[in-house]
Amino acid sequence: MADKKNLRTPIVCVMGHVDHGKTTLLDKIRGTAIVSGEAGAITQHIGATEVPIDVIINKLGDPRLRDRFIVPGLLFIDTPGHHAFTTLRSRGGALADLAIVVVDINEGFKPQTYESLQILKRFKTPFVVVANKIDRIGGWVSQKDLPFAATFKKQSEDVQARLETKLYEVIGELYNQGFAAERYDRVTNFQKTLGVVPVSAMTGEGIPDVLMVLLGLAQKFLEANLHYSAKGPGVGTVLEVKEEKGLGATLDVILYDGTLKKGDTVVIGSLGKPIQTKVRALLKPRELSEMRYESKFKQVNKVTAAAGVKISAPGLEGALAGSPIRVATEETLDEIAAQVKSEIDEVRIDTGSV
Ligand code: GDP
Repeated sequence: MADKKNLRTPIVCVMGHVDHGKTTLLDKIRGTAIVSGEAGAITQHIGATEVPIDVIINKLGDPRLRDRFIVPGLLFIDTPGHHAFTTLRSRGGALADLAIVVVDINEGFKPQTYESLQILKRFKTPFVVVANKIDRIGGWVSQKDLPFAATFKKQSEDVQARLETKLYEVIGELYNQGFAAERYDRVTNFQKTLGVVPVSAMTGEGIPDVLMVLLGLAQKFLEANLHYSAKGPGVGTVLEVKEEKGLGATLDVILYDGTLKKGDTVVIGSLGKPIQTKVRALLKPRELSEMRYESKFKQVNKVTAAAGVKISAPGLEGALAGSPIRVATEETLDEIAAQVKSEIDEVRIDTGSV
């Protein structure tokens, strides 16, 4: 079993066809994190939202579950879609450790649903399928934010049958794509069978269930990927290069391994020679309660994986979105620069085939 103290938060990406509800789902999950968080429970990130484990356990309403999970929480990348998934890389794979594929239960599979599944298959990323918009099923009576089983029980038999029919159409499509799938509460082995969770991203029905299935997948993932930890030199991926008033070019970064500190020397991928610079400031968004300040950001001295952070440093103009950023020391600088360069070359060759 992993050393619990150094485990890092798994990173989750939301995928699926346009208009099937990716943004609404993320907003709902973000709302969960903000509404149910006690003081100090919520950490704001740049480009990502962290839902700490205690918030998820609260939502599930069974404190006994706490001991089952060693995962510190889940970090959701705020940009949905498979473009984000494929351009955001970590060394040797996708930046996201886990994914959610959203499919509108009433519309069924569409081109980007198939594409998402192909991409996840190629990267061997564990994922859960969300059958969204159950509130649109004829006769459905919404039960805000309830777990699926509780809301399902309150529906009439006709409505329940309608949901099952539509759900098994989704499951049938998944079979056609080579995935054994089942309604998630009927799955006995998530290694072999994909879980499908019926939800309404709009009303919040089924959202606690999605979080629970993700925790289960995260646990398995962590057991298989213990090399990622919250300790050691920081490694991340650049989400975006952004001009900020008074700061010049800044980088929005998802740190997926180790620790990044103010003053660290970092190497970042660019079109030419990798950039070498020193971190001038690490910035996080201000909490809502601190909006009286002029700047949207506050400084922190260090961040630990997984985290979304804005980096201010000299000479960031040529940095490339999607490229790696690595912390180096004087001794490791040349080696790390060579590594970053080869990662950039690999990504460029590889994205040609996406
Ligand atoms: P995206 O393109 O996948 O990010 O989809 P959006 O989240 O923007 O949703 C597309 C439309 O579907 C919006 O009008 C949403 O309000 C609506 N929508 C999303 N989820 C649900 C849901 O669970 N129920 C209903 N009734 N509408 C939804």
